[in-house]
Amino acid sequence: MDILKTLTTINACHGPSGDESGVADAIEALARPYADDIRRDVMGNLIVHKKGNGPRIMFAAHMDSIGFIVSFVEEDGKLRFGRLGGLDPYACIYTPVRFKNGVKGVIAADDEADEKKLTLNDLYIDIGAKSREDAEKQVKLGDTAVYDAPALLLGERISSPYLDNRICCVALLMALEEMKGTKNDVYFVFTVQEELGLRGAGPATYGIDPQYGIAVDITVGDEKKVGNCKLGDGAAIKVMDRSVICHPQMVKKLEVLAKEKHIPATLDVLRAGGTDAGAIYSSRGGVCTGGVSVPCRYTHSPVEMVEKKDVEATADLIQAFAEADLD
Ligand SMILES: [Zn+2]
Repeated sequence: MDILKTLTTINACHGPSGDESGVADAIEALARPYADDIRRDVMGNLIVHKKGNGPRIMFAAHMDSIGFIVSFVEEDGKLRFGRLGGLDPYACIYTPVRFKNGVKGVIAADDEADEKKLTLNDLYIDIGAKSREDAEKQVKLGDTAVYDAPALLLGERISSPYLDNRICCVALLMALEEMKGTKNDVYFVFTVQEELGLRGAGPATYGIDPQYGIAVDITVGDEKKVGNCKLGDGAAIKVMDRSVICHPQMVKKLEVLAKEKHIPATLDVLRAGGTDAGAIYSSRGGVCTGGVSVPCRYTHSPVEMVEKKDVEATADLIQAFAEADLD
């Protein structure tokens, strides 16, 4: 599977938190040849099943992205917006965006805004409209937009918006494609609304009732004040983030598998951010949960960056766990 090509296919879809069905359609088409069954639950979680008689394992990668939601249309046609997930004004100012219907725009700040203390309230989306009436012909209240920037191959690294978490959707698809026969009962779940507070993973876990859960997401790379991982470290085996302390048995098992299969890997102690691991672990009576992550720079900006071999290592470790003897 070509990482950049698959990423580009998925990222071409509109999929901010709460409106992921376009992304789900693209992933479903890619997963179809390798799946025994595919379904969606009420919230929109996409559940890809490889059937087996052994222990139930649930891998979860969120497919939603952060985004912008129109909250007010100004007299002069500027669009005020609310945030879907963690948006930093300095990361999103002067970036191009696109709406689901194809309308494009750019983000800019009010003239009177203090550039040293920017907040999202200072920003607006300019779609080139000359008046409210003109704007409302193109976009309406509640419509959502996402970053409109390309995926770039930079040496061994990829820069693109929404590597968080589409690159891990790609890693799940790679593992699914490569999987050999296993007695484990394996679910690859592409979850919704993670960026709004891990909202989709809990209900998905409740429905599947797995014995083992693994969240697959990016982790912060190259920021010593937040964590320890950096690009090129391989698959990051989660010890903790702000939503979870992983089950020690899962950390150990993933470490052992990486060693046995010669998969580059590192432990990941992240002091910021949350992942679906938190929601999976505390679902039902508790699920034995861990996490595997791809180190990523410039998170939640339009130019997030990962290293290709870390994506491959993550896919390999997912596959190794999916095929592991867990009895
Ligand atoms: Zn994420």
